[in-house]
Amino acid sequence: MWGEENLDRVRRICHNRFARVVTGWRNLFSGANWIMQNVDFEIVVVGGGIVGLASAYKIVSAHPGIRIAVLEKEESVAAHQTGHNSGVIHSGLYYKPGSAKARTCAKGRKELVKFAAEHGIAHDICGKIIVATDEKELVRLDELIEKGRANEIEGIEKIGAERIEEIEPACRGIAGIWAPCTGIIDFVQVARKLAELIEAQRGGNKVLTGHEVIGFERHDFYTRVVTNRGGFNTKYVINCAGLQCDRVARLDGVKPGVRIIPFRGDYYELTESARGKVKALIYPVPDPAFPFLGVHFTRMIDGAVECGPNAVFSFKREGYGKTDFSLRDAWDSLAYWGAWKMFMKNWMYGLGEYRRAFSKKLFLRSLQRLIPSLQTDEIRPSKAGVRAQALGPRGELIDDFFIKTERSSIHVLNAPSPAATASLAIGDYINEIATKQFGLKETAQKTDSGKTIKKPKKRKRRGKGAEGDAGAGGGQDL
Ligand SMILES: Cc1cc2nc3c(=O)[nH]c(=O)nc-3n(C[C@H](O)[C@H](O)[C@H](O)COP(=O)(O)OP(=O)(O)OC[C@H]3O[C@@H](n4cnc5c(N)ncnc54)[C@H](O)[C@@H]3O)c2cc1C
Repeated sequence: MWGEENLDRVRRICHNRFARVVTGWRNLFSGANWIMQNVDFEIVVVGGGIVGLASAYKIVSAHPGIRIAVLEKEESVAAHQTGHNSGVIHSGLYYKPGSAKARTCAKGRKELVKFAAEHGIAHDICGKIIVATDEKELVRLDELIEKGRANEIEGIEKIGAERIEEIEPACRGIAGIWAPCTGIIDFVQVARKLAELIEAQRGGNKVLTGHEVIGFERHDFYTRVVTNRGGFNTKYVINCAGLQCDRVARLDGVKPGVRIIPFRGDYYELTESARGKVKALIYPVPDPAFPFLGVHFTRMIDGAVECGPNAVFSFKREGYGKTDFSLRDAWDSLAYWGAWKMFMKNWMYGLGEYRRAFSKKLFLRSLQRLIPSLQTDEIRPSKAGVRAQALGPRGELIDDFFIKTERSSIHVLNAPSPAATASLAIGDYINEIATKQFGLKETAQKTDSGKTIKKPKKRKRRGKGAEGDAGAGGGQDL
C-alpha cells in the first residue's frame, strides 16, 4: 500500500518535471524560431561593388523567398574598385589552369556578355593583343598561350610582327597573342543594373547606399549588423567589402589571415588627336612575379583611350591622389610584417614603380615600348584606381581569389582582377556556399506568392578556414 502511494507520487513528480523541461525547450525553440522569422533580412551583404551585387543577385535569383540587403557605405554603388578599373572583359588566358581565376573568368565573361546584351549595357568584344617587344619575353609569351589553351579560351592564336601591325597599325612587337574574345564594358552600368534587379526581385530586398557597417553584435540565433544609420537583424552575413574586407572580417570576429595592401594604379589618357593610334586593346607580356598585367592601352566604351595602370603601394586604401595619406591605413600596412617581407623582396620593382608614378617621361617610355611613335604631348594624366591586394604573413601576394566561410558568414578576402569580369561566376559560387553553409533551401520563409519553403536546418560546424591563412590554404578558393 505505502509502496504504491510513493510510487504514484514519484511518477507524478517525474511527469511534471519532464513536462516542464519539454515546455522550456519548446519555448526556447519557438523563441528562436520567432527571431529567425522576424529578422529584417535573411542575408546582409556588406559592400555594393560588383562582387557583392553579383552575389546578392545570384542568391535572390536562386532563392526568391530570401530577403536580402546590400549595404554600401558610399552614396552610390560601384564607388571604389568597380568604378575605377580598366573596363576590360578579360578572356581568362592569363590564369593558372585549375585556379579559381581560371575557372571563373571565362565562365563569368560569357555570362557577363549575355547579361550586357539582355539588359542593353554597352559593351564591345573588340579583341586584344599581348605583345612581346623583347626576345626575353618570348618564352613567357609561349607559356601564356599554353595557359590559354589549357583554359580553353576561344580563338586565341600566336601572331607575328606583321599581324600585330595589321591589327594595331601603330604598335610594334616581335610576336604576340591575339585574343578575339576579350572586350570592353562599363562595369558601373553592370553594377547599377544588378542593384536594380535585386530590388525588383522582391519588395523586401534592399540595396542601401550611405550605410556603413561599423560593427556586428552576435546573438544566439541572429546577428545585428550595426551601421552609421541604425542596425539590422539578420541570420547571415556576406562580406564583399573590397578594400576594407579584412577589417570587416575582423569586426565580425574572424581572423582574415591576410592583410589588404592597397596598390594605386595611375592612368594617363591619349589626347583626342592621338586616339587613332589604338584600335582596341594592347597589352605587354606580364611579369609572372606580380599579379598585375603591366601598363596597357585600353579603348574605353566611350571612345577614350586610357594608358596604365602602374602599381604603386598606396598610403591610403581609398586614396586616388598621388600624395593621399591616411594614418590608419598606412599603419595597418606598415605594422604588418608580411608587408615588410614583400617590400624587401621587391624593393627594386617598387622603387621603379614610384619613379614612374611621378615621372611622365618614364611612364611614356613604358608606353613607347608598345607604340614607339607616341609623344609626350599625346598623353595627359587621367583617373586612378586602387587595387585591394591580399598579402599573406610571409609577404606573399595572394594571386588567386580567396574566400573564408564561417558558421553564419562568408568573407571574400581577395577579389582582384579579373573579379569584375568573373563577378557573375563568383556570385554563383557564393550562392553555392551560402546554400550549403546556411541551409538556404530549407529556410522557413514565405515567398511573395505566399508559398512556404521548408523549415530551418541545423547550423553547421564552423568553416574549415576559420583560423588559417590563405597561403597555407586556410580558406577556400572558388
Ligand atoms: C585599377 C584597376 C583596374 C582593374 N581593371 C580590371 C579590368 O579591366 N577587368 C576586370 O575584370 N577587373 C579589373 N579590376 C579588378 C576589379 O575592378 C575588382 O576585382 C572588382 O571591382 C572587385 O569588386 P568588389 O565588389 O570586390 O570591390 P569594390 O568594387 O571595391 O566594392 C567594395 C565595396 O564595399 C564597400 N564597403 C567597404 N567597407 C564597407 C563597410 N564597412 N560598409 C559598407 N560598405 C563597405 C565599398 O565602399 C565598395 O563600394 C581592376 C581593378 C583596379 C583597381
